[in-house]
Amino acid sequence: TKHFPVRKRGREVLSKVTKVVRAVDDVTLTLRRGKVTALVGESGSGKSTVARLLAQLYGRTSGDIKLHGESVSVKSGKKFRAYSKRVQMIFQDPFASLNPVHTVRYHLTRALKIHGRAGKTKEDLEKALADLLSRVQLTPPERYIDKFPHELSGGQRQRVAIARALGADPEALLADEPVSMLDVSIRLGVLNLLRDLKERLNLAILYITHDIASARYFADETIVMYAGRIVEGGDSETVTQRPAHPYTQLLIDSAPDPDQIAAHAVSEKDRGTGEPPSLINPPSGCRFHPRCPHAMDRCKTELPPRFEIGDGPGHFAACWLYSSEEKP
Ligand code: SF4
Ligand code: MG
Repeated sequence: TKHFPVRKRGREVLSKVTKVVRAVDDVTLTLRRGKVTALVGESGSGKSTVARLLAQLYGRTSGDIKLHGESVSVKSGKKFRAYSKRVQMIFQDPFASLNPVHTVRYHLTRALKIHGRAGKTKEDLEKALADLLSRVQLTPPERYIDKFPHELSGGQRQRVAIARALGADPEALLADEPVSMLDVSIRLGVLNLLRDLKERLNLAILYITHDIASARYFADETIVMYAGRIVEGGDSETVTQRPAHPYTQLLIDSAPDPDQIAAHAVSEKDRGTGEPPSLINPPSGCRFHPRCPHAMDRCKTELPPRFEIGDGPGHFAACWLYSSEEKP
């Protein structure tokens, strides 16, 4: 759980916390080595906050993070480094995450040195650098190693950012919208690369996206967030083919059909499904109830727990429609 305090600006008591943004509430998920888990939701659903909590870039309001069953606390810089060696983050905008005044060599050397993987000799380092670049298919390495970020394409920059993350030899990658700023034509190449790395390096990957269609293609497991809470999860095939939660159904219905982008833009406007709610004062009960076509009385007051759907591995939905009392 992560709540951000909102402090009142102006003359009255500057430091007094007047409200909180309930960005992430009671989110529980498990990443596994050799698997991609997609975390899907609209902007403002809390999915990036989940990644930052897992990367320990944010402290949590409550709850626990476990690595191989052991609680992780990163109070000291040393402990943070030990954790970040195992769990690396990849950001949406590779241009912002790479320093424009430094070359690829600098970025990758620094990552290798921080994590004690630069070797003893200059030859060791050169070999490790070439190895990182070939892992992300930037070959031959000498073509890229002395380039500055602005001399690379968006896709190449994201590959460098991935190579830098691999410099730590991590167990898990947290990828926050890793392809959403890239040209549509090269997104698939970067996702395929990540999938290939998952297989070869047995990585656990958290793939954060607003694009549920890409989750189906790329992720083993899909989890859907709405307004700071998990509303549905299960294996990707089941969640995307047989969405159980009304919100997931809405997401899938409004995913653009590549052949009908223009038609989609129109229908989206007319659909009138509304906007995600404010997380300062989220709706009571099921947070989706103001937008839900199936809302019942209890939805307005009672928070739905997770119900097993039973039609696919681990498929669940937090929706009263699946409570045995509601079933006909
Ligand atoms: Fe709709 Fe109720 Fe299910 Fe929420 S719990 S998604 S309001 S039917
Ligand atoms: Mg985000």
